[in-house]
Amino acid sequence: MASRSTGFNSGLDIGKSYYVATANPAPDHPALAGDVEADLVVVGGGCTGLSAALHAAERGLKVVLLEGGKIGWGASGRNGGQMIPGLRKGARSLVKAFGPERAKALFDLAFEARGLVLDIIERHGIECDLRQTGHLVGAVSSSDVRDFEEEAECLAKVMNFTDVEILSAAEARQMVDTPYQGAVFERLGGHMHPLNYTLGLARAAVAAGVVIHENSVAVRLEREPSIRVFTDKGSVRARHVVLAGDALLKGLEPRVNGRIMPVGNYIVATEPLGARNVIPSNAAVSDTLFVVNYYRMSADGRLLFGGGERYTPSPPADIAGFVRPHMEKTFPQLKGCRIDHAWGGLVSITTSRLPHVGHYGEVYFAHGYSGKGVILSTLSGKLLAEAITGDASRLDLFSTLTPLPFPGGTALRGPLYVLGMLWYAMRDRLRH
Ligand SMILES: Cc1cc2nc3c(=O)[nH]c(=O)nc-3n(C[C@H](O)[C@H](O)[C@H](O)COP(=O)(O)OP(=O)(O)OC[C@H]3O[C@@H](n4cnc5c(N)ncnc54)[C@H](O)[C@@H]3O)c2cc1C
Repeated sequence: MASRSTGFNSGLDIGKSYYVATANPAPDHPALAGDVEADLVVVGGGCTGLSAALHAAERGLKVVLLEGGKIGWGASGRNGGQMIPGLRKGARSLVKAFGPERAKALFDLAFEARGLVLDIIERHGIECDLRQTGHLVGAVSSSDVRDFEEEAECLAKVMNFTDVEILSAAEARQMVDTPYQGAVFERLGGHMHPLNYTLGLARAAVAAGVVIHENSVAVRLEREPSIRVFTDKGSVRARHVVLAGDALLKGLEPRVNGRIMPVGNYIVATEPLGARNVIPSNAAVSDTLFVVNYYRMSADGRLLFGGGERYTPSPPADIAGFVRPHMEKTFPQLKGCRIDHAWGGLVSITTSRLPHVGHYGEVYFAHGYSGKGVILSTLSGKLLAEAITGDASRLDLFSTLTPLPFPGGTALRGPLYVLGMLWYAMRDRLRH
């Protein structure tokens, strides 16, 4: 697999990632050549696109999926692998924005993502190092602990959800060997090998009849007289299109483009730590910083640590050197340990940190999970397939989350937003 490292979505050293080094064998899919017809054409071979394709094919549609590079080499195959139920915004924010009834409906729908992913993994026998060991959020200040308590109260009262536990500093330390002020432990979280999950999803889609073309960048979308998606070597004419290119989609559909912004985010995998394991609970862990640190142990005992974002277009020249200080600040006991893999990816964020999901006529889209898309993307794909095959009720509910566009449109969203983000990043440094 590592030899296939050139192409559309191979930037930020994905070819050197821990995931590519430990990927399950997967077939290559030929590029599109010539003009073909289908019921549905999907642009993007990450979890959103593959799930939409799988669920549409299971409902009897003829589906062609175009992937510009390799399947899974977008965010889906290079992320932290943290399976965190729910949305990036908490229960109180949802209640404030939508009122208790709609907030609960949205919460319940988003929560389905977890069961759906577990079911797909089981049904299709996907080997992806699944660990249902929970997700812990460590508080970097005592005000965060009060915040956790209020959130837990709202979860219980409005969402009827009690699968969270507030931990003292000492209890948190038993689970992860770094001094947090306290923590919230979400029992239903966990982690997995995201590239192997995505490759498994692709295998399931193909078994359901989906035709996948890799190295097939969609360069133009024609809407009239009917949907037609062009690559440089062919086209797919179809009744519907799903745009699932997330941070890499760029200008294919201007109406969706201005609502997401790509932000570079970086991860390292240490050498296997053996007895120096820093997460005895094996939970997935993140903290309360604005530029969040997130980490977990891999199946072979490495610490996979994500930390540090960069708002300028160019990636750091030395990704390992960029992430290491964040890791060593959290775990001084790992100072100097070997880093075997370092890579990055683009997180697509929205102004509200809630996903942008919906459709314009027969042009369907879902993206902008804002760093919480490992399981949500599979659900979004299913909702798109449901809508395309006649039941839009759940997609319509999800599309009420639609975030505001970035101020200044695509041209200015970068500079204006960067200023805001840098301010928050600076505030992190004062808190931690
Ligand atoms: C470094 C990093 C860490 C993360 N960690 C976590 C985490 O721990 N937990 C969590 O919940 N979320 C995490 N996320 C977010 C999560 O990975 C994403 O939200 C999710 O994978 C998005 O899936 P997707 O299918 O929508 O997009 P992607 O997986 O990016 O797939 C989009 C695909 O579309 C293709 N494409 C784009 N444009 C075109 C085109 N014109 N023609 C053809 N193909 C095209 C791309 O090549 C790509 O393969 C992280 C993201 C990153 C980058």
